[in-house]
Amino acid sequence: MSIFSRYHTLRILRQHPIADADWFAVTRRIPLLQPLSANEKARLRELSTLFLHTKKFTGVQGLEITDEIRITVVAQACLEILELGLDAYDGWVEIIVYPGAFRVQREVADEFGVVHEEAHALSGESWGEGPVILSWDDVYRDSFNPHPGRNVVIHEFAHKLDMQNGRANGMPPLHPGMSVDDWASALSEAYEQLQQRLAHDHRPAIDPYAATNPAEFFAVICEYFFTDPRTLRTHCPAVYDQLRAYFRQNPLAWA
Ligand code: ZN
Repeated sequence: MSIFSRYHTLRILRQHPIADADWFAVTRRIPLLQPLSANEKARLRELSTLFLHTKKFTGVQGLEITDEIRITVVAQACLEILELGLDAYDGWVEIIVYPGAFRVQREVADEFGVVHEEAHALSGESWGEGPVILSWDDVYRDSFNPHPGRNVVIHEFAHKLDMQNGRANGMPPLHPGMSVDDWASALSEAYEQLQQRLAHDHRPAIDPYAATNPAEFFAVICEYFFTDPRTLRTHCPAVYDQLRAYFRQNPLAWA
């Protein structure tokens, strides 16, 4: 939380608090947050208040940004950085929210090198130094009726963490004492195993979307780390240990 002095922090918390009724009305409906201790919940709320002070929400296609939307996104984005601090989300300000999945036009090269314009429907997207873009339908489903291993907020904000040291490549800035080699070998082994399973038509233990590229692999394993830690720990123990060291959290202990 070093971007604010302690004095400034206290002033923001006093002058821009999230009303009790609003905070509890939303966060008590998010299963992901229930196992946190009272102390962690209090720190999550502080961090969320500071986050709201530094970031801007924009609704598009007629979507009005409500307290429910703001708190749902912020509480889960801040769960990810609970032990990292707000600096981990430095360098960008805007969160754009669509009512539902949004379509984007992309240029995609085929096997002959010919570039085609393709339309994709997305539930979320993160731009380097630009906005996080989310579909409220998808955020709502993943927050209030969650499916293990899937959470679009955790996914898109994981891309933001990854991009803290430049391009999204599956390696966020590691802490002192963490080994780049250990991180790279744990993640690349698991990534290659996933590719192998898919190549041989075996059912993968985690969402096959993770095989898209190392950046998507990182975002997907973060979804598992927070929403289905048991699966990640069982199938990719070395990856779980690296994420545990990076996030400084142990979601398995919550269960
Ligand atoms: Zn992604």
